[in-house]
Amino acid sequence: MNKEKDYYKVLGINRTADKKEIKKAYRELARKYHPDVNRGNRLSEEKFKEIGEAFSVLGDDKTRLQYDILKGFIDIKPQTGEQTKKQASKAYSGKKARPETAGKKQDNPFNMDLGDILKGFTGKFAKDDKKPGEEKKETAEKKAKTEPQKPQPKKGEDITAEISITPIEAHNGTIRKVNILRTDTCGRCRGKRIINGVSCSTCSGKGEVSTHKQLNVKIPPKINEGSKIKINSEGNKGLNGGENGDLYLHVHIIKSSYFTFEGTNVLCEVPITPTEAALGAEIQVPSVDGFINLKIPPETRSGQKFKLAGEGLPDAGSGRRGDQITTVRIDIPSNLTDKEKELFIELAKARKYNPREHIIFDR
Ligand SMILES: [Zn+2]
Repeated sequence: MNKEKDYYKVLGINRTADKKEIKKAYRELARKYHPDVNRGNRLSEEKFKEIGEAFSVLGDDKTRLQYDILKGFIDIKPQTGEQTKKQASKAYSGKKARPETAGKKQDNPFNMDLGDILKGFTGKFAKDDKKPGEEKKETAEKKAKTEPQKPQPKKGEDITAEISITPIEAHNGTIRKVNILRTDTCGRCRGKRIINGVSCSTCSGKGEVSTHKQLNVKIPPKINEGSKIKINSEGNKGLNGGENGDLYLHVHIIKSSYFTFEGTNVLCEVPITPTEAALGAEIQVPSVDGFINLKIPPETRSGQKFKLAGEGLPDAGSGRRGDQITTVRIDIPSNLTDKEKELFIELAKARKYNPREHIIFDR
């Protein structure tokens, strides 16, 4: 994976995009490139992974902020906590930023304490680990200001990642590769931030770098939308020998606007034309595995149900598959042309019948 990839570009959004916009962009792209829709298309598969990865980072305020900071999209300089807060909140509010009211507490666009998150970063700049006599060589930019502190072991922050799975995977359980972005100690300066009195170029003097890691995660069967899976010690690196944070995997089941599920049975509705209904046809309908043929017999009525045996979900235990129940609806095209109207009139003349004559109004 290319570490220089810009997740905002991947999702086609602005860096000032709010949570809703990010979610919307992700959902649209994920639907478009979903492997189930683009079977065997490697490019779509890669794109889908990329989108998932981008969303796993930008879809969560905490990882997004970390990403923005680590990529340099938010310029965090040693300064007061209040300044830092303002800077970060400005970054995501964009044009919609409310005018600052003097003395009043600014709205926090994230549902959390920014100070807490930024503490880890600003704290590093506040620390002073330069050796005596090295002052002249030190770059002015990275000059530390406060008195030295004893390094205390600190547990790394927990991180979250989003994962989208198909309804079949949710039903059966699966093993999925999950790409996470987390902070790790910089390998070059080993977290010291300075090499030979010069700010480390690998981590830009931050002492830590953002790294991608791919994990194989086992998703248990019969998992529900919104479930959280905790993976111990896969969060951000602990500081000064502290233990690592944990990874919380937030499971999303890819919503199907097309299928509903009842146990192992899959239900769906497909439109057919009046001609197909009257004369019969062989049509293609989507199934959980892709498109399958469905034979529409002549004189099919709207609302008629067809059972496609064994085309439902596999049972998690026996592997035996349920059925797909397809309901057909007759679709009338809009904007009928004069020619079409003429033909419908002809049709009505050819057969005079009242489809409501059997209805008895019992008062
Ligand atoms: Zn470094």
